[in-house]
Amino acid sequence: MAVPFRRTSKTRKRLRRTHFKLQVPGMVACSNCGEMKLAHRVCKACGTYKGKEVKSN
Ligand SMILES: [Zn+2]
Repeated sequence: MAVPFRRTSKTRKRLRRTHFKLQVPGMVACSNCGEMKLAHRVCKACGTYKGKEVKSN
């Protein structure tokens, strides 16, 4: 098994973690109800996509 040759410095570690985001990406506000939803997906709160009702129940 490979073992790290050098200890990762504080700067290296922090530089790597600048790319870590707090929020899950791909979330947008729904154009119909304003709820946060996944992009390119039907809104879970109101069941619409691109201004049309898609929900079936
Ligand atoms: Zn919605």
